[in-house]
Amino acid sequence: MVDCWQSIVGRLVAPEVNRVMRRFVTRMLWSAASVAALFVAVASCGAQTADGVADPQIAAALKQVSAQRIQATIEKLVSFGTRSTISAQDAESIAAGRGIGAAREWIKSEFERDSKDCGGCLEVKTDSFEEKAGGRIPKVTEITNVYAVLKGTDVASAKRIVLVTGHYDSRNSDTFNVTGDAPGANDDGSGTAVSLECARVLSKMKFPATIIFLTVAGEEQGLNGSRHFAKMAKEQGWQIEAVLNNDIVGGDKSAEQNHAVVRVFSEGVPSAASEQDLRQIRGLGGESDSGSRQLARYVDGIGQTYDVGVKPMMVFRLDRYLRGGDHYSFNEQGFSAVRFTEFRENYNHQHQDVRTAGGIEYGDLAKFVDYEYVARVARLNAATLASLAAAPGAPANVRLVTKDLENDSTLTWEASPGATEYEVLWRETTSPEWEHAQKVGGATRATLKLSKDNVIFGVMAVDRAGHRSLAVVPGAER
Ligand SMILES: [Zn+2]
Repeated sequence: MVDCWQSIVGRLVAPEVNRVMRRFVTRMLWSAASVAALFVAVASCGAQTADGVADPQIAAALKQVSAQRIQATIEKLVSFGTRSTISAQDAESIAAGRGIGAAREWIKSEFERDSKDCGGCLEVKTDSFEEKAGGRIPKVTEITNVYAVLKGTDVASAKRIVLVTGHYDSRNSDTFNVTGDAPGANDDGSGTAVSLECARVLSKMKFPATIIFLTVAGEEQGLNGSRHFAKMAKEQGWQIEAVLNNDIVGGDKSAEQNHAVVRVFSEGVPSAASEQDLRQIRGLGGESDSGSRQLARYVDGIGQTYDVGVKPMMVFRLDRYLRGGDHYSFNEQGFSAVRFTEFRENYNHQHQDVRTAGGIEYGDLAKFVDYEYVARVARLNAATLASLAAAPGAPANVRLVTKDLENDSTLTWEASPGATEYEVLWRETTSPEWEHAQKVGGATRATLKLSKDNVIFGVMAVDRAGHRSLAVVPGAER
């Protein structure tokens, strides 16, 4: 309903759309006594919002995300006793259903079943390597990432990849303990379940671009699995445009939990920035415009376009204090990647041996997980993956023409295959979110009566159905 109101107010303010103003007016309308007159308009209202247009097929797919399936996945993962990366993976342990080897084989079989259900649409693969001893790896250990590829249907667009990941390894109090129970229901059975559920639901659809559903190991030993995968992707020239890392998205059932919010962490200054990049960031104020930050803003927009039951809360930092995660492995290789984590973590339920002490229950047990919450986070992920995989690629070589001193701003970019029009976004330099958007048609050049010195610009590619690409902030061109 609120989306509808925004749409109506938006039309009044269009074509130049001021999102902040729209939200303000929307709130005013809600409190006004004369609001009844507008209900007539609401009846014919579509799903358009300031942030994009909901695709009915994607909206229908989101309804297939099942909290029951997610519960079954997490309980199955917990049933392997421990999924420590350095736990057993010999044939006997796999047959007995205990240890990381058994978990790995089960995840693989889940992807294979999904693939069978869609006529072989998924390519199920493993990325195995031997990690040498050192740090939290006591001896040479085979680490295996398991993933499924939903190849894009368009030859050119299939090179573009969006990816969702969670880590299937777990730990207890001592990272070197390989035999004690380490249920890892929330950390990160929940993120693994998000990857698997997205694969199950989205494999029933077709997209021009490619989606990869990944589960990695070695996170708790030092991000070993994701580091190997991200390096492989970089070396092989994969065009990964977005990585969604879900780690601790179980919505721990503590009294202070906010089950309506999920945090989205993103780096500001790119980890992979060159000296030249850093000079430009310092000179022009690009500290909050990394690819990862644009991805976080995209997720924020998806949270407003689709009714997934949970709102993204952007956190403008790489990760929480003293913590890290698999998105960083991708950031290091220059890929845009964000981390989803529940609003409030319960440290009694992470990285702890299962025990009761002083009347407190410790351990990462399934009973503390809110499966409905995980399903909402999975819907947010699925909507983001589907929207990006359906959309044209982001415009390349976006440039601000700066050869003359002038108060107008001219932007140029290369055409994106599949795009029918482009949107120029802008915001004040102090604003966290895009505040304005202007459609500029199908040309690859636009001049706006705004000073580039006073705002930050971005350009998005949009297709006929309204699917939008990530925003790209221009570089300066003399
Ligand atoms: Zn974790």
